[in-house]
Amino acid sequence: MYKFFDREKLKYCYQCGRCSSGCDINRLDISFQPHRLLHLISMGAIDKVLKSDTIWKCTTCFTCSERCPQGIKVTEILWTARAMAVKSNYIPELLITQKDILLRTGRLIPMDNKKREKSGLTAIQEEPSVVDRIFEIAEKEK
Ligand code: SF4
Ligand code: SF4
Repeated sequence: MYKFFDREKLKYCYQCGRCSSGCDINRLDISFQPHRLLHLISMGAIDKVLKSDTIWKCTTCFTCSERCPQGIKVTEILWTARAMAVKSNYIPELLITQKDILLRTGRLIPMDNKKREKSGLTAIQEEPSVVDRIFEIAEKEK
């Protein structure tokens, strides 16, 4: 399952930084630098990477993987890091809250009915069954 976490392959990374310089999240937040995360992993500081909130900022757009001159699958490595973080129960509080809201309402951001009413829009009621409906529709589309 964790084949992309192969530290042997990571030895081919020569820290050129092309992955980070093409990353949209890096443009918004300079602290997010995929090449540094790979460096930590290759040095064996995997726990440090898993415990960091940084891995959750990636949008999995694959730009870094496409730009890497060494063919290193940076996005997949970050995915793997997330999977390992979940397995080790290192999940940021905010994401746990978002997951609960998503399961309860089918939305990541709760509906602000006060704002809707101020704008002349009708209130939208929370529907606890909305997630079940999403799964039902997805099942039919298979
Ligand atoms: S682009 Fe590839 S070789 Fe360069 S730092 Fe990123 S992973 Fe390493
Ligand atoms: S996949 Fe993640 S790390 Fe790579 S460029 Fe996109 S946002 Fe950045």
